[in-house]
Amino acid sequence: MIRAIRGMKDILPPETSRWQWVESQAREVFELYGYREIRLPLLEKTELFARSIGADTDIVAKEMYTFTDRSGDSLTLRPEATAQVLRACLENGLMRRAGVNKLYLIGPMFRYERPQKGRYRQFHQINCEALGSDAPELDAEVILMLVDLLGKLGIKDLRLLINSLGCPECTPDFKSQLQLFLAAQEGWCDDCRRRLVVNPLRVLDCKSQHCQALLVGAPVMEDSLCQDCARHYRRVLSLLEGAGLAYEKNPRLVRGLDYYTRTTFEVTAAGLGAQDAVAGGGRYNGLARELGGPDLPGLGFAIGEDRLLEVLPPEAGLEGRPLTFLAALGDAARERAFLCLQEIRAQGLPAAMDFEGRSLKSQMSLADRLGAAYVVILGDQELASGQALLRHMASSQQDAVPLTELAPALAARAGLKEGS
Ligand code: AMP
Repeated sequence: MIRAIRGMKDILPPETSRWQWVESQAREVFELYGYREIRLPLLEKTELFARSIGADTDIVAKEMYTFTDRSGDSLTLRPEATAQVLRACLENGLMRRAGVNKLYLIGPMFRYERPQKGRYRQFHQINCEALGSDAPELDAEVILMLVDLLGKLGIKDLRLLINSLGCPECTPDFKSQLQLFLAAQEGWCDDCRRRLVVNPLRVLDCKSQHCQALLVGAPVMEDSLCQDCARHYRRVLSLLEGAGLAYEKNPRLVRGLDYYTRTTFEVTAAGLGAQDAVAGGGRYNGLARELGGPDLPGLGFAIGEDRLLEVLPPEAGLEGRPLTFLAALGDAARERAFLCLQEIRAQGLPAAMDFEGRSLKSQMSLADRLGAAYVVILGDQELASGQALLRHMASSQQDAVPLTELAPALAARAGLKEGS
């Protein structure tokens, strides 16, 4: 049997309902903050990611799905969304159009990582990008929106970690201080020995516990921030405090992409094990220029949807509209039930029946398996009287309803249920 590729999973019903629910909640919240959806290709030129994410990051160095297409171009399945959102904005001149500086994108990303719980090779992100402003209010708003959404989804025990990575004014100074510190220690892993020469910030991000232990006492970026960056950071934090949002400063939070400047943040959730970051993001003021565009400050975040689903309350997103199952016996009743199906669906309610001529007993067990909220039994007698019994499965309550009134009666009950 041919199986799915390692690290890539099928998302099956009823789990898909939960994904749809999460996405619809996200769309609702994003709309409140003025975001519009953007949909982009899964493939981009490799250069886009190599140039933006950073040659020395794990993503570019080890994790991209890159191949040469039939015309000899090097293409890559997108490992993240920010670079391509900016590419699309610059290419389509989106920033010149009103109301398009806040964008969201929902879809799969691809990274050749070692699969484990919460880490996949095809995973799914909900991304937001806010472009065109360096105002700290925007940083605070983006973070508040993220936490707002996670709260609406019922995610518990969230921790917001935050840091500032400075700007090209102050980062070089910090990098040299860090480099001096790193060079004075022995025992770095092979990757870090290379990183401490080419990109010392990446050492802060090393997953090895040994390297993390060696970092105790390392200089912290906050002490090296220039005046503007320090002011920006203080303002973001005070806006979050003003909004009553608890945060923890984490001076090691550099995240796995090179394009971040100033604010970076991550949200972790309890119950995820080692891969506990449910969302992460930050500011990338230099990225548009790096991609050949104008100065276009911006920031954004990505929620890991697969991980989010793992910490979603178990019942969330599963409640659908009540299903009515029509159990029909005999050809004439089946004819009538087939029409009833459409009448009920026309009221916006799901309806099902058996097409295989099963016995009443197996129709009832089918209704049960489908999770029907109501069952209507239709036989010769019901056809003759023009009335059928509408049974509410949970309470076992039964009411005689004229067949012509069945669909409106179900609609009224669904309305009652919604209102109660
Ligand atoms: P990043 O794009 O690296 O900033 O990651 C943003 C979020 O995407 C993380 O906080 C995770 O929730 C999620 N994520 C990143 N990589 C993976 C992966 N390989 N599998 C599942 N989720 C991931």
